Amino acid sequence: MTAPAFLPPGSMLGVMGGGQLGRMFVHAAQRLGYSTAVLDPDADSPAGRVSHLHVRTGYLDEGGLAELAEACAAITTEFENVPAAALTRLAARRFVAPGAAAVAIAQDRAQEKAHFARCGVPCAPHAVIASRDQLDAVPDELLPGILKTARLGYDGKGQARVATRAELVQAWEAMQGVPCVLEKLLPLAFECSVVVARGADGAMVHLPVQRNLHRAGILAVTEVGEGVLPAAIAAQAIEGTRAIAQGLGYVGVLCVEFFVLQDGTLVVNEMAPRPHNSGHWSIDGADLSQFDLQVRTLAGLPLVAPRQHSHAVMLNLLGDLWFAGGAERTPPWERVLALPGASLHLYGKPQARPGRKMGHLTLVAESARGARTTALEACAALG
Ligand code: ADP
Ligand code: MG
Repeated sequence: MTAPAFLPPGSMLGVMGGGQLGRMFVHAAQRLGYSTAVLDPDADSPAGRVSHLHVRTGYLDEGGLAELAEACAAITTEFENVPAAALTRLAARRFVAPGAAAVAIAQDRAQEKAHFARCGVPCAPHAVIASRDQLDAVPDELLPGILKTARLGYDGKGQARVATRAELVQAWEAMQGVPCVLEKLLPLAFECSVVVARGADGAMVHLPVQRNLHRAGILAVTEVGEGVLPAAIAAQAIEGTRAIAQGLGYVGVLCVEFFVLQDGTLVVNEMAPRPHNSGHWSIDGADLSQFDLQVRTLAGLPLVAPRQHSHAVMLNLLGDLWFAGGAERTPPWERVLALPGASLHLYGKPQARPGRKMGHLTLVAESARGARTTALEACAALG
């Protein structure tokens, strides 16, 4: 279905997936007076627990999809591995953004890289490996490299670093020979990302460029504000992101991740057809968050450029924090909450596990120095 002109508050907005991104979408939608519906099989899903309606079925369940379509005026997604087929089915009855075609490209690293090339945004040298012949034909220049499954990877999962051809063969076999992409291992100086929102009329606004630090393949820290990266690189990243969104005919919120190499070259890494962990700071550090933008693109509300009002540092809170010295604990939130400029976001997940994203903490201040100092104090408080 085509985009409705304008869905007034009071309408019900739906989201496929009930994780923390869905939860923050629900909060933003409800603040504007919308009702919300979430489809997620998990009874304890973070978004399902705070939504007016929780359709508790699988993503491809006919009855569940029909119930969601019936209840909602428009539907978005928060989870990039929602089957594109589910979005296609919903789209037969309701406006769905982003569309299935864009999501399908983002779900497959090989297609994603082909799209980047079509848009003229360079990515890492790579080869698609979907057969033994393609494995044998991999050029030596791609080693050492990172073998990544083409589909279903996240937070560094579904990846193996390979230094030699023998390691490559072994890693591909360990991945059961599923279609993969081998990327050359690049000398990174740092990583950054851009969140863009594109409306059904083609209008685009973006958040400021975010500098990201990963640990063990998982985002750990994001910093946003003046001076966190060179202006010329930021401008190039924004231009690349807009070209990528435009090329997809995208409607909704899209995040594009980039590598900045040691020689200053900007290389696109991957995209997420939804709000992104690196954009969470915008809830506390800008006048419109990435979730506000998601609501606006879905409901046909005006897309206004977000203005950052504070320097922001975002720290991810992984389940590891719930385990100190071998014992399970409640992290010392009272110490963190005593810090000026700290906003604690917990996703309401009932069970902490090492590596699981349980929440995040945003530290805002007028200056980079202020935000960084509070972030260090928060780390010390968390232990
Ligand atoms: P995921 O989907 O799990 O986020 P990414 O492809 O973004 O997977 O890889 C996770 C992290 O691994 C990146 O943020 C980066 O730190 C590192 N990485 C990935 N690809 C490369 C590469 N080609 N060269 C160097 N580092 C890489
Ligand atoms: Mg990534």
